[in-house]
Order: sequence, then C-alpha cells, then structure tokens
Amino acid sequence: MTPTPQHPHDGVFDIAVIGGGIVGAAIARDLSGHDVTVALLEARDDVGDGTSKANTAILHTGFDAKPGTLESRLVARGYHLLSDYAKATSIPVEHTGAVLVAWNDEELAALPELKAKAEANGYEHCRIVDAGDVYQVLPDLGEGALGGLTVPDESIICTWTTNLALATDARQRGTTILLEHRVTGVDEGEETTTLHTTSGDVRARWVVNAAGLGADHIDRLFGHDRFTVTPRRGELFVFDKLTRPLVNKIVLPVPTSRGKGVLISPTIYGNVMLGPTAEDLEDRSNTATSEDGFGFLLTKGERLMPRLLAEEVTASYAGLRAAIDHPDYLIAATAAQRYLLVGGIRSTGLTAGIAIAEHCRTLLEEAGLELRTRTDLPDPPRMPNIGEATPRPYQDADLISRDPAYGTIVCYCERVTEGEIRDACHAPVPAHSLEGLRRRTRAMNGRCQGFFCGAAVAALREQHHTHDGCSSQHKDVR
Ligand SMILES: Cc1cc2nc3c(=O)[nH]c(=O)nc-3n(C[C@H](O)[C@H](O)[C@H](O)COP(=O)(O)OP(=O)(O)OC[C@H]3O[C@@H](n4cnc5c(N)ncnc54)[C@H](O)[C@@H]3O)c2cc1C
Repeated sequence: MTPTPQHPHDGVFDIAVIGGGIVGAAIARDLSGHDVTVALLEARDDVGDGTSKANTAILHTGFDAKPGTLESRLVARGYHLLSDYAKATSIPVEHTGAVLVAWNDEELAALPELKAKAEANGYEHCRIVDAGDVYQVLPDLGEGALGGLTVPDESIICTWTTNLALATDARQRGTTILLEHRVTGVDEGEETTTLHTTSGDVRARWVVNAAGLGADHIDRLFGHDRFTVTPRRGELFVFDKLTRPLVNKIVLPVPTSRGKGVLISPTIYGNVMLGPTAEDLEDRSNTATSEDGFGFLLTKGERLMPRLLAEEVTASYAGLRAAIDHPDYLIAATAAQRYLLVGGIRSTGLTAGIAIAEHCRTLLEEAGLELRTRTDLPDPPRMPNIGEATPRPYQDADLISRDPAYGTIVCYCERVTEGEIRDACHAPVPAHSLEGLRRRTRAMNGRCQGFFCGAAVAALREQHHTHDGCSSQHKDVR
C-alpha cells in the first residue's frame, strides 16, 4: 500500500521522536497507532545506521537479566512481542536455542544460581547438563567444557530487518521520517518545543529522546544532568559460511559484571560470529576494529572452538553499546516539559525495543498525553526475506517467471538479485546509499565484501536513484 504520512495542519507535530534506531522506530510505530501526528528525526541519512546495525543479533529470553529491573521486565516481554511481530512481518528469526558453557569449577558452580536467576525472571526452561550433553549438541567445541546450562528459546534474528520493519510500519501508519535532521538545540515554549536541527527547525508538542549514544547530549539540551553515556565497543568476527555446520546453537559464556561476554553464534545469513569484546571508549563514533580486539578474540576463539579459527574470516565489525552510569534502563517522563528520556538501552535494545515502546506510551499517557487508538491502521508490512532459513527470491521459480529481475544475480556471494536491489531503492523507507542497500538486501556482505559486485550494485543504485524513489525522498521521507 502507499504510505500516507500525516502532516500537522499547524506545522506542529504532536510528538517528535529523536533517533531512528530500533528503539526510536518502535516508539514512533507504537505512537502512530494512535490519533496523533508523529515525526521521527534521525541525524544520519538512513534509519538503523547506529548501534542497531552492529550487534550480535540475538533475540534474548532475558534469562540472565538482573531480576526486578525494568530491563529484565522489558526484555522478557520484548522477546514475545518481537517473536510475534517477526511472524507478522517476515523478519527472519531462527529459534536455535543456546548452551551456556562452564569452562572451570567456578563457572560450573555458578550454573544453579544462573538457573535460579532465569526462574526469577520468569523463564522456566533452563536445564543444567553435564559435559557429555554439551559435546553431544556441540561436538566441535574446544576441549575442557565441564558442563552447561541450556536456554532452549534463545534465538537469532535479523537486526537490520527489525529496524526497517518498525520504521516502515511507522511510516505506513503516518509517521513522517526526517533523515539528516540532527538535533542541535532545543527551545521550550508554553505549548510547543522547537527542535533546531541540521535541516531546519521542527516543532512538536511532546518530545521523546531515543538518541542512543547521543541521548545524554539531548537530555542536557532539556536542562538535565542525570547521566553520561560511555560508548562500550564490541568487536566481532564473521566467519565464512562453510563454518555454519559447526555451530547450530548459540554458545554463551558465563556472564560477568562487565556484560554477557564472548559468544559464538550462527547468524541468520548462514555464517558464524565470534564476539563481542567490551571496551569503554571516549569517542562515540569509533566503530573501527582494533589489533587488541583481534588478539583477544583469537585467544578466546582458540579456546572455545579451535576448528572455527581454522576457517576464513569474512568480515569483522564493531558496535558501540550506549553504556551509562546507572544500573538499569533510564526511562523517565518530565510532564512539565512534555519530554520523555529513553536512555541506557545498552545490550538488549534489539530484543526489548517493542516493549520499551509500549512502556514509553504508558509513561507519556501518565504525563498527560492524550492518545486515542486508531481503528484504521494498515496491516504491518511484509518485509523482503534476507535470511537463510526460508526461500529467497533467487530460489523462487514462480517469482522469477513473473519477474525475471529476481533471476538475475548481482551479488554472487550472497545471491542477491537485481529485483531485490531495485525493490530496496523503491521501498517505503528506501536505501539511499550502498550501505543502506547492504542492510536491506545483503548485497556486498559476502566473501568478496563487494569486490566483485560493488560496481554493479552501485550502477543499479544509480539507475534507480536517478529515475525515482531514493533521491526524491532523501531528506524528508514524506
Ligand atoms: C556489540 C553489541 C552487541 C549487542 N548484542 C545485542 C543482542 O544480541 N541482542 C539485543 O537485544 N541487543 C543487543 N545489543 C544492543 C542493541 O543493539 C541496542 O540496545 C539497540 O540497538 C539500541 O537501539 P537504539 O535505538 O537505542 O540506538 P541506536 O540504534 O544507536 O539509535 C539511535 C539513533 O539516534 C540517532 N541520533 C543520535 N543523536 C541524534 C541527534 N542529536 N539528532 C537526531 N538523531 C540522533 C543516531 O544516529 C542513531 O541512529 C548489542 C549492542 C552491541 C553494541
């Protein structure tokens, strides 16, 4: 269907959501299910280009969260909400399950406590198993595992499609997506707030700050001084698809106070990943990988699964968690300012995003925002499948006979077709760059990393960019 963004009659949106990551997109989607005008402001030239594009892409049950926290509640609820939403929108998910492995006596002794913690979080399906059981499901694991804890519902998901589905849904419900609108200043008026951005002013009655790594800066523009974001870099290796048979489950370490630790996981695209590291930085834009990170991951990988390290690494990347000096998510409304902060969504925001949005809606209503549920909502979007578990366009003979562009492969490593690239350029939330195309189609994401297909992909982008779609909706996806 053709999206129908709602423009405010008086030039003032009812709500402006800052940040087009998973959290901001989920909030915009939720709010635009009500009788209000919503703008989603994103600093970059695409949604989902911040932390939400570079994580380990695990749909967490929340078994290891700290019981009683807002995070544990929202991750557990988010798991179910996102699982259902993924079915409705075709976001790729594989319910692989996970095994948390104990490598020494101390870790072995911690397993009963972790099981009890899972139960305190409402997750009852963990089971403690001995080393024999661990090696039965993970025969290629390195030597020395002493036992494990199974987490049968831990799953893998496509983080890129999740962000895009939420943004597309928000747009189809009427949200105005404003790209390249970095918020740089705030003027609070009696009834409306003016957000100064790099592409002009945007006025709104209510403002939601879901700016991830930039959330503390925005919070200060509203006169608060309650937290500081420390970017915590996580580096990862992605191994060649030949490694996928080695790893059919997520292999988790025993978590520490610094985080979830280094894991091995199958990916939704048929690879295996190893990581992430956890390193606090000062530079909020430093997503480069490092020699130290490489060394650390090689040492860890050698212990966890030596056979994996004998295979080729296809890519490495790094993401930045928005760690804050507060032990839980920091989500708070200030009614007098008609302002909601959504901060500290560090390591679990992909899973919790839809539940965070639900929680935000409740807080906004309590702060005085009137919301009436709409009865005329469009169906959720059906997203293009870029996962390996279900057939892709190049495998669909009927589709190819109807439209031969789906039979013309452009990216051979990942088997991406001309039809998919064309569609991504003309989607409701279209790709404006090669990186945007990569996240929508997997083009240039394989063994050659675009060496062979990059020029052809760029030419197609140029062709569709010129003729319609991409450029006309560049800054203001209205
Ligand atoms: C290494 C790593 C592994 C992870 N693994 C998992 C996992 O397996 N499962 C899971 O559930 N979670 C995981 N996470 C966490 C998850 O990725 C994040 O919690 C989630 O992506 C946060 O989404 P967000 O929307 O808050 O932030 P972002 O995606 O960063 O979005 C914030 C957006 O705000 C924009 N912005 C910032 N400042 C401004 C401004 N002034 N004006 C306008 N826009 C602005 C940014 O450009 C950005 O697009 C992981 C994170 C990392 C780094």
